Amino acid sequence: MHPHKVNCFGLLFTKNRGVFYILIDDRNHVYLVRPSYFLKKMYPSAVWRKDASVKKLYLTFDDGPVPDITPWVLDVLKQYKIKATFFCVGDNIQKHPDIYNRILTEKHRTGNHTFHHLNGWNTDTNKYLDNISKCAEVVNSNLFRPPYGKLKQTQLKRIGKDYSIVMWDVLSGDYDKNTNPEKCLNNVVQAARNGSVIVFHDSVKSFKNLEYTLPRFIEYAQRQGFEFEAL
Ligand SMILES: [Zn+2]
Repeated sequence: MHPHKVNCFGLLFTKNRGVFYILIDDRNHVYLVRPSYFLKKMYPSAVWRKDASVKKLYLTFDDGPVPDITPWVLDVLKQYKIKATFFCVGDNIQKHPDIYNRILTEKHRTGNHTFHHLNGWNTDTNKYLDNISKCAEVVNSNLFRPPYGKLKQTQLKRIGKDYSIVMWDVLSGDYDKNTNPEKCLNNVVQAARNGSVIVFHDSVKSFKNLEYTLPRFIEYAQRQGFEFEAL
């Protein structure tokens, strides 16, 4: 890596004649377990963390519903008697309505994650908003999480009128091919704190890490006296 460049979740900082410029790097594969100060500054109106004075955690699962994976997550949540929030992709709901209905029947909360899992940075704003509306035909919720955590400021403003935009306090990194199950568990154990909104994925790609981490993390957190709630 160039000595004057630091990759930092979607932002590239370049030192040029003593001045730091912030550039957007859409292709970096580095993630931080905790969102960067700069990312939070880009989306100050979003929800990053809930009440820091209360010992509660908020598990969120993105990109489902997916056969086998989402039902497995629901079984684990049922086993530990906890509620969570699922940010669903409209296209997946249309393909697997029975699994989506199970999420609702078991009293978890759902949120809109666009119909086609679009990257806001690469998508025209009207097209992006239409995709959210299409997802809203199958998800009845005022919660929205942008896929990849990426939104243009114009999108943020317009979505913010109708939705509570939910980002995160802790990324498990379950989807990252360089993360192994032990590291994924360590990510969440180390970073979870009062009010943390924690991101997992109910996807095939993440399952190896999720399967190991989720029950172990829940047991760890419950031993520490945390309660879990849906958003
Ligand atoms: Zn997603």
